[in-house]
Amino acid sequence: MKYVNSVVDLIGNTPLVKLNSVTEGIAATVLAKVEYLNPGGSIKDRIAVKIIDAAEAEGKLLPGGTIVEPTSGNTGVGLALVAQQRGYRCVFVVPDKVGEDKRNVLAAYGAEVVVTPTAVAPDSPQSYYGVSDRLTREIPGAFKPDQFSNPNGPRSHYETTGPEIWNDTEGTITHFVTGVGTGGTISGTGRYLKDVSADRASGPVRVIGADPEGSIYSGGTGRPYFVEGVGEDMWPDAYDKTVADDILAVTDAESFAMTRRLAREEGLLVGGSCGMAVVAALRVAKNLTADDVVVVILPDGGRGYLGKIFSDDWMKSYGFMESGDEATVGEILR
Ligand code: PMP
Repeated sequence: MKYVNSVVDLIGNTPLVKLNSVTEGIAATVLAKVEYLNPGGSIKDRIAVKIIDAAEAEGKLLPGGTIVEPTSGNTGVGLALVAQQRGYRCVFVVPDKVGEDKRNVLAAYGAEVVVTPTAVAPDSPQSYYGVSDRLTREIPGAFKPDQFSNPNGPRSHYETTGPEIWNDTEGTITHFVTGVGTGGTISGTGRYLKDVSADRASGPVRVIGADPEGSIYSGGTGRPYFVEGVGEDMWPDAYDKTVADDILAVTDAESFAMTRRLAREEGLLVGGSCGMAVVAALRVAKNLTADDVVVVILPDGGRGYLGKIFSDDWMKSYGFMESGDEATVGEILR
């Protein structure tokens, strides 16, 4: 019989898929690592299982314990499904600006969702950080993963994402491109790929981060942008500044146009940070040769964005698309 013992065993070992259409005119091979094929639908399943394994080993999470994290998105789903399989309770604190659909997904996995007001200062006791800190103090046996500072986030990528890419490309990868949110993916995967290729005749793997224009990683002030899951307005501990060789800024309009092209032309229904990372990957790839192999991470799927990026009305209302652009949106390489 062929089966796994639990859904947790399905995390990781995601495939590389060659991009064939958006790469027109590019000589290098561009391979996308499709992270929506993880059971929780995103790359964050990887950090969830590693963070929970480590907390158990360190005695920070005991049988019957409760996981408390301020998260509204992919990390919550990953933590919820691993926690459920191990018998932990999950309490997620989300700001009220987070849509009902996202809250309902967390609840569907059996997590408890506490909603906090968005219109309060970050240091207010009512803010989502304030409430999650209080719950962590008050709930007996509570453990707060804190994905922005937990070293097991980047470590999970050093141990899984990096080796998978190295093995699947048989050591031929020349450039690694990924979006930067907490910084865990670029720090862990990028560090592994550099370590393993350090003595290679053709030189080490080059690591390139993709960042929403306005975010601090690419020199912005942290001003708002629409692409979700990436960019920062403060420097998280999970981000290792010594790994990236370059960080490229990508606008929301470019990210969303490419996200739509990935669905229409490559059959990859993915999220906005995927489009952003692919724009950066193509900018890198267009200066490369047929000997080069670029790997780009696609962190999540597109179903959570149907009412936004994939809605013509939403795109037009924010100026990301002009009327009449519907069929052709996106000759965006520059
Ligand atoms: N894209 C999406 C959709 C994400 O949820 C995340 C995680 N915040 C990222 C990209 C970036 O990953 P990391 O936090 O490892 O930098």
